[in-house]
Amino acid sequence: MTTLIKNGIVITEDPEDRVFLKGWMRIDGDRITGLGEGDPGDAVTADRVIDATGKAVLPGIVDVHTHVCGSLFKGMTEDPEGAFYGLALPMERLLTPESTYTLSMLGAAECLKGGVTCINDIYHYMRDTARAIDEIGMRGVLAHKIIETDLSTIQYHDYTRIPKEGAARVEENCRLIEEYHGKDGRIFCRFGPHATDTVSIELARKIVELGHHYQVGFHIHVAQKVQEVNFLKETYGLTPVEYLCETGLMGEDLVAAHCTYITDRDIQLLKEGGATMAHCAEMYGKRGSFPPMEKIYGSGVRLAYGTDWVTMDPWTSMRIAVMAARMAGCKLNDPSAHTALRLSTIVPAKSLGLGDRIGSLEVGKQADILLLDMQSPNLTPVFDDPVATIVYNANRHDVHTVLVAGKVLVEDRQLKTVDEAQVLAEGQRAATAIYRDYRAGK
Ligand SMILES: [Zn+2]
Repeated sequence: MTTLIKNGIVITEDPEDRVFLKGWMRIDGDRITGLGEGDPGDAVTADRVIDATGKAVLPGIVDVHTHVCGSLFKGMTEDPEGAFYGLALPMERLLTPESTYTLSMLGAAECLKGGVTCINDIYHYMRDTARAIDEIGMRGVLAHKIIETDLSTIQYHDYTRIPKEGAARVEENCRLIEEYHGKDGRIFCRFGPHATDTVSIELARKIVELGHHYQVGFHIHVAQKVQEVNFLKETYGLTPVEYLCETGLMGEDLVAAHCTYITDRDIQLLKEGGATMAHCAEMYGKRGSFPPMEKIYGSGVRLAYGTDWVTMDPWTSMRIAVMAARMAGCKLNDPSAHTALRLSTIVPAKSLGLGDRIGSLEVGKQADILLLDMQSPNLTPVFDDPVATIVYNANRHDVHTVLVAGKVLVEDRQLKTVDEAQVLAEGQRAATAIYRDYRAGK
C-alpha cells in the first residue's frame, strides 16, 4: 500500500528544520519513501492520495511522560489541596488489570485524537496498558511502575519498605519486557522505578543491572514534591538528582520526569549525565509548582515536553511551557515556537532511543504523521512561518488525520481502530466504579 500526501504545508522537524509552504510526501507501507517541496510531479504515484490542501503535515507528537490510565482523575485532583498524595495515589489501589486496560484505552484515545502518536508511559498493570496501545495501533514506550512503598500511606510520611512488593513489581516489569519489547516495531519497554523516594537505593541498583541485561532504558519521577526532597535528604543525605547518580540510573537512557525542586548542582549533574528532563508544564500549572526553567533552558540539559496525566493535550501543554518560562524570566526566543515543537517531536524521539525511526518527516523514517486542519479562524492567516501560527494557536480539535506506521488511526477527527462511543462509555463506567468504591472506603 502506497500513499501520497500532497498540497499541504509540510513541517519536517528534520536537522535543517525545513518547512515547505506547499509540499508532498510519499509513504510505502509503514515508511516515508519520498518528500519534497511543491508538486510531486507525475512520476510519483500511489495507491491512495490524500489531498492536504488547507492542512499542515507534521510528525506525530512524541509525549515524553504520560500515564494514559491516569485519565481516571480528570476534574477530581486539580483543585483540592494535597490531592496527589491524599487522593490520587490512594485511589490507584482500586485499579484492576481490567479497569487499567479500559482507562488506558480512554487515555490513548485522547492522546491519538490530539495528535500524539508515541507515548512514554509508566503505571500499574502496564501489560494491560500495552494491550490497549497495541489494539488502538499507536506507538508506545512502556514501563511498569516499580514501588516498594505503599503509595497510599506516603501522605502520612510512612515510607516503610515492602521488599516483597518491590520484587514482584520488578518481576512484572521483566514480564512486560519479555512480552512486548520490540513488538511490531511499535511497542518498546523500559524499567520504571516509580520515584526516588518510593524505591530504595538497593532496589534501584538492581533495576539498573537488569536494565543493562535487557538493554532497555529507564523512566522515573524525580524531585516532584518537597516531601520527596526532604525524605531523600534525611534518609540518604542526597538530592533526588544525586540519587540518580548514586544508583547508576543517571545516563542517556533515562527519562527523569519533572525535576521541579532541583539545585544548580543538580542541573549540572543532569547535563553531565545526559538524562532527559521531562517537562510537563500544564501539570505544573495545576499544581502551582514550576521547575527553575530560566536556569534550565540553554544550560545544556536535554529537555523534552510531556503532558503527564489527567489531561493529555500536547498543544496546550506546549504553549504553557513557553509562556510560563517567559513569565519566569526566560528570553522571548528561548523557548521559541520552533524550540517548543522540536521538544515535542524529534528531541523526545531521540530521548527514547527512537530518533532514527520517528520524530521528524524524513525519507526512511516511520510514517507517524498528523494533519492539522488549518482552515479555521484560529489558524488563519499563515505567513512564512506556519510553526509559530500552529504553536500559538492550534488546538487538539484541529487534528484532522493521524497515521502511525503508515496506518490511518484517525480520519476526519474520528478514531478508526476502536469504537469511540464504546471507549467513552466503558471509561466512564470504570471510573465511576472506582470512585464509588473509594467513597465507600474500600
Ligand atoms: Zn508522572
